[in-house]
Amino acid sequence: MSKKKSVLVVGAGLSGICISLQLQENNCSVTLVDNGVNFSSRVAVGMINPLVFRRMTKSWRVDDFLPYLKTFYSTIEKQTDSHFFFPVPIRRLFSSEQERDFWLKKEKREDFQPYMNKVSSEDYAYDQGKNPFGSGRVNETFFLDTELFYKKTITYIEHKGIILREEFDFNSLKDNNYNGVKYDEIIFCQGYLNKDNSYFNYLPIDPTKGQVITIKSKSLPEDVSLNRKCFILPKGEQKFKVGSTYEWHNTTTHITEESKLHILENLSYIIDEKVEVIEQIAGVRPTVKDRRPVIGTHPEYKNYHIFNGLGAKGYMLAPLLSKEFVDYLIFGKELDKEIDIRRFNKSE
Ligand SMILES: Cc1cc2nc3c(=O)[nH]c(=O)nc-3n(C[C@H](O)[C@H](O)[C@H](O)COP(=O)(O)OP(=O)(O)OC[C@H]3O[C@@H](n4cnc5c(N)ncnc54)[C@H](O)[C@@H]3O)c2cc1C
Repeated sequence: MSKKKSVLVVGAGLSGICISLQLQENNCSVTLVDNGVNFSSRVAVGMINPLVFRRMTKSWRVDDFLPYLKTFYSTIEKQTDSHFFFPVPIRRLFSSEQERDFWLKKEKREDFQPYMNKVSSEDYAYDQGKNPFGSGRVNETFFLDTELFYKKTITYIEHKGIILREEFDFNSLKDNNYNGVKYDEIIFCQGYLNKDNSYFNYLPIDPTKGQVITIKSKSLPEDVSLNRKCFILPKGEQKFKVGSTYEWHNTTTHITEESKLHILENLSYIIDEKVEVIEQIAGVRPTVKDRRPVIGTHPEYKNYHIFNGLGAKGYMLAPLLSKEFVDYLIFGKELDKEIDIRRFNKSE
């Protein structure tokens, strides 16, 4: 019988959580270290949208990711006796005739049909948001209550493993030993804070700040997520999350008036109501220029690994990619070349 692997996971955001769950599922012993300062996973709105509206394309590998994530999140809901994963219809209010024509072309294609409803007279007549060019409804769209997902999964992981609530101290790491304990593998899942990791900070993970506001509105619909220039996610009792900004190469984590006004201006393309802003939050996404995650093993330290760079779509990507990574780590399966860190050179 093979020995149970002991693994140290650094960072309990979405990446570290999914990796830990997959490792425990494969009978590994997991120690998860986190400093409690999370700037992405717990700030995220948690929307899952199979389309990229800007280019009217399908999201990367969506046909693989969607079926897997539905089973993954529903299974964790059962295991943790909670409900954090919900379907939500998304309606795209077209910005121009050109965008509508793009959609009309794509909706005929077989590979888009699972995700696009055919535009009907009802979509042209839709009047719960400004709709001068008509609108299209997307299928297979979901959102997670990210705070509840975090709380429930952390408790579940701790039940089977160990959580160290502290700053990971790189000075206490010597070969495979951390604070005097020996681990078979060490996996770094630090989000944008990878910049402080001297083993992996050669990888081009760029910080992309994002801000989201919560508003109260009397006129917005509560049964659909409207999208044009911004997204609006209904949260019940006339509250809505609206966002988000993309502030490239920005590592600050405070909210700004400028971003609030920017989001409100975008919202004015959907409604004219003067809404009340009741909350504003900011976070930093770990993004990569080629828009693919960075996953794999250090070129010199063969037991040090990284799982990072989930960008703006972490909640769609993390479930299956964490499985693929654990299959690589435990069973020696090949990693998808598109995500493998070997696409970047480590120059001395
Ligand atoms: C405003 C905003 C909105 C978003 N909306 C969505 C959305 O709707 N849908 C979607 O799919 N994605 C969304 N995202 C993106 C999503 O949040 C990310 O893809 C994902 O959460 C990244 O997860 P991560 O675990 O890699 O990083 P993080 O969430 O940053 O987690 C890293 C963890 O490591 C810890 N850590 C780092 N260094 C150390 C150390 N030295 N010692 C101890 N702990 C350490 C940090 O404290 C943190 O808890 C959004 C992001 C933002 C900012």
